[in-house]
Amino acid sequence: MFSDISPVKELIDKAEKIVIIIHTNPDGDALGAGLAVYHFLKQQNKETILISPNQFPLFLSWMPGSEDILVYERHINKAKQCIEESDLIFCLDFNAVNRVDKATESLKNAKAKKILIDHHLYPDAFDYSFSETNTSSTSELIFEFFLALNGKQYLNKAIAECLYVGIVTDTGSFSYACNYEKTYLIIAELYKLGINGEQIHRKVYDTYSENRMRLLGFSLSEKLKVLPQFHAAYIVLTKEELKRFNYQIGDTEGVVNFALAIDGISLAALFMERSDHTKVSFRSKGNFSVDQVARDHFEGGGHRNAAGGNLKVSLEDAIKIFEELLPGYFNELAANV
Ligand code: 5GP
Ligand code: MN
Repeated sequence: MFSDISPVKELIDKAEKIVIIIHTNPDGDALGAGLAVYHFLKQQNKETILISPNQFPLFLSWMPGSEDILVYERHINKAKQCIEESDLIFCLDFNAVNRVDKATESLKNAKAKKILIDHHLYPDAFDYSFSETNTSSTSELIFEFFLALNGKQYLNKAIAECLYVGIVTDTGSFSYACNYEKTYLIIAELYKLGINGEQIHRKVYDTYSENRMRLLGFSLSEKLKVLPQFHAAYIVLTKEELKRFNYQIGDTEGVVNFALAIDGISLAALFMERSDHTKVSFRSKGNFSVDQVARDHFEGGGHRNAAGGNLKVSLEDAIKIFEELLPGYFNELAANV
């Protein structure tokens, strides 16, 4: 995929100020890819800044370099200035400019060349696009990108840890999007760089706050609705309920996957009430494309089996749209259990 890398290598060599930007509500892959590129460029003494549109989850705040991340919505003027003054921008783990939410206008107006490295379906055109949907994660692509740049000498344990987080989280600890031999060959390379996979796994998955764990329990015991006739299940969380469990960004990460883990369910959704919109997360099994559902009906997108969207409608209306869609997918849902 990175066969024609020389123009990008030239751009990097010439660049003095480089910005890396990742998608809003960044997950382990966005942060892993972003931080890995950050460390890689820093090793080459490039003035580099990693921008996240909003705050990242607490359970990922141990990742090396995360303390240097510039959170756009908290430091708008500084972040805007960095984007404006940059001479090269890496756009990582997203496929459309508006996925950087409040930073969209700044990114659109930036004069710097933009390099996209991503694995989401249907990417927009960027100045240089490296998009591969048949891969575990953007982090895996980043490893290949480093090799294509002949950058092996810049790889270190911190970079390997970041990339490992990206691959582990985007594959649900090697349970989906991971049927590729190459992923494991790259994992072996990360081990050679000194990572401790067990320890990383504990830091990412065994660090729930009590509130987060109780919110998960509440979601599953009190808020899960199963529609066996449609092989679908969904969970709805109101603002009030999230507040009751002192919701922090990242606390609902993984909740929707439990609904999908029910035998006979091929489509799962999580609806969350936000101040002015409803956030939806979808997961599916097999060939049922939640990317298509999110794209067609929820102003979103993502991957075939994991997608999301945001609709400027009430929680009730979003659920209504969802329930009314199901009969139309009757056969497809039944075929993918
Ligand atoms: P999650 O449900 O965990 O928020 O997101 C699942 C996948 O869908 C991720 O790959 C994420 O990038 C994508 N996604 C989530 N929300 C949106 C959205 O509002 N718009 C688009 N285009 N993709 C989304
Ligand atoms: Mn990803």
